[in-house]
Amino acid sequence: MVSLVRGANYSLMATSFCPSLPQHFKPTPIIKSSSFSFKVFSSLSSTDETPTRVGFLGLGIMGYPMAQNLIKAGCDVTVWNRTKSKCDPLIDIGAKYKPSPAEVAASCDVTFAMLADPESAMVVACGEEGAASGMSPGKGYVDVSTVDGPTSKLINGQIKETGALFLEAPVSGSKKPAEDGQLIFLTAGDKSLYEKVAPYLDIMGKSRFYLGDVGNGAAMKLVVNMIMGSMMTSFAEGLLLSEKVGLDPSVVVEVISQGAISAPMFSLKGPSMVQSKYPTAFPLKHQQKDMRLALGLAESVSQSTPIAAAANELYKVAKSHGLSDHDFSAVIEALKVDLKE
Ligand code: NAP
Repeated sequence: MVSLVRGANYSLMATSFCPSLPQHFKPTPIIKSSSFSFKVFSSLSSTDETPTRVGFLGLGIMGYPMAQNLIKAGCDVTVWNRTKSKCDPLIDIGAKYKPSPAEVAASCDVTFAMLADPESAMVVACGEEGAASGMSPGKGYVDVSTVDGPTSKLINGQIKETGALFLEAPVSGSKKPAEDGQLIFLTAGDKSLYEKVAPYLDIMGKSRFYLGDVGNGAAMKLVVNMIMGSMMTSFAEGLLLSEKVGLDPSVVVEVISQGAISAPMFSLKGPSMVQSKYPTAFPLKHQQKDMRLALGLAESVSQSTPIAAAANELYKVAKSHGLSDHDFSAVIEALKVDLKE
């Protein structure tokens, strides 16, 4: 997955098409130099509002590089992951470790969570030894996982009961943007927490949007990923069709890259898809989860989404053929399957 809207360009779009866009919907772009992150933290004084002890729960494809960037920037980071071994390389570079989400939350001012899906986000936040058990007034919980609005609202409720603050902040951008600190944060919830954690978001990302009430960040993320998931299936169909009619699909990728439907995602994924290779950046199982959640969102407001529904079926076929942990571009394999088999 690639970031399709840069902060600076979005400002232009907002001026042209949405002159009355409310301030909180506008992105805050970040200009970074290679030493930017370190400078942010070396300039903080003890009187700053910024919370100083940071927890990070969930060290998968996305969580690991995000936590790593915080550590490299000089932050005081405490990590936890269900599979403990994934914490070890971060402990080696300076992270602290606690054996449960509750203990991380209890020992930190603000705790980030990057979990697989609604179920894992719920259990890590609100289950036994979940983060909520370690929360109290003055602390904050920032869930950067991709979940649906109702799940986010449930977590918000549990965190708020402890007197702590809550921010949902799903990200746009994949493995490489996470490694490069170039994610886009789609935040909603407690504005004061948003402001407090802004220096951390700026280490991990290139821009951030504050979207208002809890649920709006989740909805924004699901709309974006629904579009992305449908684009990928359409791209896959085109590549296979081109091959069947005797065209070189690599040339199709090149032609697309030069025209109006050019998208970084096509240029990034196309060459490896042509070679039937799918190195995992965004697992297919998570793309299908996002399609499912987006369809649920659409149903909740009676919005017809036939293209996304068809794309979702293809991701389901791909999953049934054992492609869950491959990159979502492996959805092309579902079109190669003889459906009579
Ligand atoms: P991932 O590599 O599959 O990592 C998932 C994380 O969730 C791991 O830390 C995993 O722990 C943990 N987890 C799963 N089930 C759990 C449970 N029942 N209890 C506790 N922990 C559990 O996924 P990812 O690619 O980092 O994605 C994380 C989230 O970000 C997802 O919501 C995804 O949709 C979203 N996202 C992903 C991308 C991307 O390009 N990859 C981009 C934007 C957003 P273990 O290590 O123990 O399995």
